[in-house]
Amino acid sequence: MDIRKTGLLALIAAVPLIAVLPLPDFWVTQLNYIGLYALTCLGLVLLTGVGGLTSFGQAAFVGIGAYTTAWLTLNMGVSPWLTLFIGMALTAVSALVVGVITLRMSGHYLPLATIAWGLSLYYLMGNLDALGKYDGLLGLKSLSIGSFDIGQGRAFFVLTWGILIASATGMLHLLDSRAGRAIRSLKGGSQMAEAMGISTFRYKVTIFVLAAVLASVAGWLLAHFQRTVNPSAFGLKMGIEYLFMTVIGGVGHVWGAIVGAGLIKILDDQLQVLLPKLIGTSGSYEVIVFGVLMVLVLKYLPDGLWSVVGRKMPAPKRQQDWNEAPALPARDKPAQGDLVLDVDKIRKQFGGLTAVNDISFQIKSGQIVGLIGPNGAGKSTTFNLVTGVLSLTSGSVKFRGETISGLSSREISRKGMARTFQHVKMIPDMTVLENVALGAHTRGGKGVLSAMLRTNRAEEKRLFKEAQRQLERIGMGDYLHEQAGNLAMGPQRLMEIARALCADPALLLLDEPAAGLRHKEKQGLADVLRQLKSEGMSILLVEHDMDLVMQICDHLVVMEFGTLLTQGTPEHVQQDPMVRAAYLGTEH
Ligand code: ADP
Ligand code: MG
Repeated sequence: MDIRKTGLLALIAAVPLIAVLPLPDFWVTQLNYIGLYALTCLGLVLLTGVGGLTSFGQAAFVGIGAYTTAWLTLNMGVSPWLTLFIGMALTAVSALVVGVITLRMSGHYLPLATIAWGLSLYYLMGNLDALGKYDGLLGLKSLSIGSFDIGQGRAFFVLTWGILIASATGMLHLLDSRAGRAIRSLKGGSQMAEAMGISTFRYKVTIFVLAAVLASVAGWLLAHFQRTVNPSAFGLKMGIEYLFMTVIGGVGHVWGAIVGAGLIKILDDQLQVLLPKLIGTSGSYEVIVFGVLMVLVLKYLPDGLWSVVGRKMPAPKRQQDWNEAPALPARDKPAQGDLVLDVDKIRKQFGGLTAVNDISFQIKSGQIVGLIGPNGAGKSTTFNLVTGVLSLTSGSVKFRGETISGLSSREISRKGMARTFQHVKMIPDMTVLENVALGAHTRGGKGVLSAMLRTNRAEEKRLFKEAQRQLERIGMGDYLHEQAGNLAMGPQRLMEIARALCADPALLLLDEPAAGLRHKEKQGLADVLRQLKSEGMSILLVEHDMDLVMQICDHLVVMEFGTLLTQGTPEHVQQDPMVRAAYLGTEH
């Protein structure tokens, strides 16, 4: 069985066991806090570790959950079982608003914005009369079912860890799904994900809201466990501490959240007692120890403590259970010889430089068109204009009769244009199969919720079957379960082609697919491209390697200094004296 599932089952078995063991009350309380903290950290694993978005503001969302239930149960007499969901809803709405405003920011602006958000909510909680200012709200009821108190001790332990395990399970399911693969693609920058038709902004907002809702549930539990709420538990210091726990435990792993929360909570308590005794005076010396610990972990174990354990575990082998799955729906393809791409006088100016100067060419269905020219000729820029990565200065691009100039790269990819990248863009810690399945993103529709609840299985099978089919189509059938990051350059480039093919494209665009390949690998690539052509695929190829281009292209477009030098069949281009002088002469 998959080791992660074994770990989960072990944890599920341990919870009732711990509940009946004669553990001292002190340790039960410790475990209760650890469960609460881990729940918030779990959200941070998704947001920061997986999604690459750093937030210092998680404690503020814990606060929204806590204050909502405190105020509503104390002032309105609402049942805490109802306030849980009201708190989650309020948190989701606040996170949505904060997320939509801040998640378009890049670099350091997002962490800074979350600090601002954490600070302002802290001062809001501390200054509102209705929320008891800095004293907070006192006298909350313990959680109970009927007359049975489950808000303290062992019963609360079972409740908290039950919620934690359920959330961790949902998270593991999510990460292994169509939506999860999209989320895992966020960290590598948005260009590749958007080219696969993924709305990176939507997924960023989604994980921001999800992490906030987990924090809110932790806040609800905390409020009723402590039976009092005050702003200090939800300020920036706690926000930093949550991030701290997660990073030390292992920000990229679901289990890292539990390890980190456990370690920091236990160390915190032990050091608070031990250090003043050692040093002889009282003070918060544990903070210094944590600071040192953090630096050491970041230096020597940047993936956190969990990575020490995780590394030793064999990668789970995916069970190949999709052979019977029905094929994904296919796109209407253009008929052989139809005009697929019509590029009309496109121009791109970067300040005073005209990188692409009124270039026109066409691609008919079933053709391989090569775009060649010396370095700096404007090939990549042309490619980016066609695929919507760059906006046109003037001119127009028509794809299958429809004007696509002005559309985003995501919208264009959804219309059936799939591409690879000059510098391979992949998710190194996913398998080849998973990376390739990312290409079929827009051919599925199951989202976050159905992934967590595992109602996405039928669709997942169809996606994996398609990914396997495309890998086999280009001769990569032996690499399915290989870690993508371990591949050599040749297979990596082929993997990108399989990923693009997974989108069921009407036009395939390849940006220097032969760059960095050895001679034999180039021949393999030429075979693959010829085979795709024989299957009716239309291809635009940006390439440096003249041999390859001359071998496989039906039509060549030659650029120099942004302008069109000539275009025609390879024979025609080869004999053109201008091309010989400008390009072939300088090439080896
Ligand atoms: P190629 O792919 O044919 O080597 P490019 O399309 O990358 O050429 O570049 C064409 C010209 O445009 C070069 O002179 C390059 O310096 C310039 N260029 C490309 N991208 C940008 C940019 N984002 N900003 C300014 N100049 C650029
Ligand atoms: Mg280039």
